[in-house]
Amino acid sequence: MNVPLLDLHQQTAALRDDILRAVTEVVDSTTYILGPKVTQLDQDVAAYCGAGFGIGVSSGTDALLMTLMALEIGPGDRVLTTPYSFFATVGAILRVGALPVFADIEGETFNIDPGKMAELLAEDTKNGRTIKAIIPVHLFGQCADMGKIMALAQEYGIPVIEDAAQAIGSEYPMLAKDGSTVWRKAGAMGLVGCYSFFPSKNLGCLGDGGMVVTSDKAFADTLRCYRNHGAQPKYYHAKIGGNFRLDPIQAAVLSVKLPHLEQWHKQRQANSRVYQELFAQAGLTDNPVMLPKAVHAASPGATAHNHHIYNQFVIRIPNREALRTYLQQQGVGCEVYYPVCLHKQDCMKKYGTTELSLPIAEQLAQDSLALPIFPELRREQQEYVVSVIAEFYRS
Ligand SMILES: *Cc1c(COP(=O)(O)O)cnc(C)c1O
Repeated sequence: MNVPLLDLHQQTAALRDDILRAVTEVVDSTTYILGPKVTQLDQDVAAYCGAGFGIGVSSGTDALLMTLMALEIGPGDRVLTTPYSFFATVGAILRVGALPVFADIEGETFNIDPGKMAELLAEDTKNGRTIKAIIPVHLFGQCADMGKIMALAQEYGIPVIEDAAQAIGSEYPMLAKDGSTVWRKAGAMGLVGCYSFFPSKNLGCLGDGGMVVTSDKAFADTLRCYRNHGAQPKYYHAKIGGNFRLDPIQAAVLSVKLPHLEQWHKQRQANSRVYQELFAQAGLTDNPVMLPKAVHAASPGATAHNHHIYNQFVIRIPNREALRTYLQQQGVGCEVYYPVCLHKQDCMKKYGTTELSLPIAEQLAQDSLALPIFPELRREQQEYVVSVIAEFYRS
């Protein structure tokens, strides 16, 4: 049997007519830069995420880069972030001339550890406060521990830029002042949230696209200005922005897809439950296979919420490279997210971070493996994936 890591054929086929109609509207309108399709998507994504404003941009990477530019973070500044993410997170920091400060992650969620962040922020205070922003990443579709992160951000007066590229629609149980729980969506808790519409994300377009959301009206205006070379008004530049605009064709496609997003999350969550059941039946859970955990799901009523949207279903296993090869030989798509931590990348040598020891992130880089989890995945395919893994550990 062949089980691809991701198969976009079915999703695209189901929406093909609607997508082509929406694209045709853009073609016929002759509005090919910004315009009503982008404005509509900006509003719809902001509303979906519970943020005030959306600013559609050219990619998730540009969402991060443009936000750092708009905050005027640059040389001499540092940004506190995770060592375990896609490269774009740290790439954006370096491209504005700032330096990353890496806090190790939690082994269960793969997300930045607020305890480690607190230590680094305390140290930074002694050294003259150069940390000017925090970028937590909601990795694989589960929110970082935003209650603790926002408390630290408030204590130190530092803005939080959520890298929610993998987590649009994921929810976190934020504790309100009166002790009640308010479920907040990824990207709508910090000053800004950055999303990616790369085709492999839960909401993907037909190419590159992204969005920044914020509930700060003045900052939304600033971001919109940066999206278009910092022009305000046209041809007058008090700021230096860039061409960070989302194409209306991609916005039109995304408007067709957005109403289906909750259903796709539910299918991914159902697939995750099937894996939990199948791995348990095969006697593989905890040892040798560590399954992903939705850690903030403990609060009452949590099952009704998207605490995890499973952009990736990442297991931890010993002897990963051998299992990976075996799965590929048996026709099962899988991938390592990520084989090299950000602080260990070759391009980081000149910043001295390759010397750092961040043991939890480094361990995960050795033993994590993503399995197919896309919404249309069938039960027989999951049974096959688990049977191949069981076979591997039996032999
Ligand atoms: C995908 C991704 C990005 C970058 O998004 P693009 O749209 O591909 O530029 C940034 N951060 C994380 C965590 C991602 O997964």
